[in-house]
Amino acid sequence: MLPTVAIVGRPNVGKSTLFNRLVGKKLALVDDQPGVTRDRREGEAHLLGLDFTIIDTAGYEDEDAQSLPGRMRLQTEAAVDSADVALFVIDSRAGITPLDEEIARWLRSGDIPVVLLANKAEGRAGDDGVMEAFSLGLGEPVPFSAEHGQGLADLFQALLPHI
Ligand code: GDP
Ligand code: MG
Repeated sequence: MLPTVAIVGRPNVGKSTLFNRLVGKKLALVDDQPGVTRDRREGEAHLLGLDFTIIDTAGYEDEDAQSLPGRMRLQTEAAVDSADVALFVIDSRAGITPLDEEIARWLRSGDIPVVLLANKAEGRAGDDGVMEAFSLGLGEPVPFSAEHGQGLADLFQALLPHI
């Protein structure tokens, strides 16, 4: 059985774009509107020779679930429970939000390893957000661009010890 990686993060940070990039097919819906990923989606990811199962969830995309209760959040918890690693995605251009901090707190209190991915880091517009992401207490963020396919080697390095 392949190791499992669960993608976690607030709406619109690029989770589904990342999923599609790693699976190599457009299995997940990408949209500017938060909340488009209605279901949990699973695919087989390939990253520079590393193969794993990847799960894209709608976890924190339910507007009613901003304060965390709700079915969608339970779905994320279930995905993370069954995973070997959580891939926590933030938006470097938007910077860290209270919901990012809440998700970080929850992940820090859990016992699966977390890889922190600072997405939308292409160009310079994400530089401040990448630095801010250190404050989440989840180690060094991996600067990444799901849209442009940048940072794949660094993501590989970050995942390797855990899967
Ligand atoms: P999700 O809600 O977390 O699943 O986010 P989506 O994958 O649906 O993406 C939300 C928006 O961010 C879309 O408009 C994407 O095109 C955009 N996006 C995703 N990845 C990147 C990236 O690396 N850079 C930039 N600039 N935009 C991105
Ligand atoms: Mg999505």
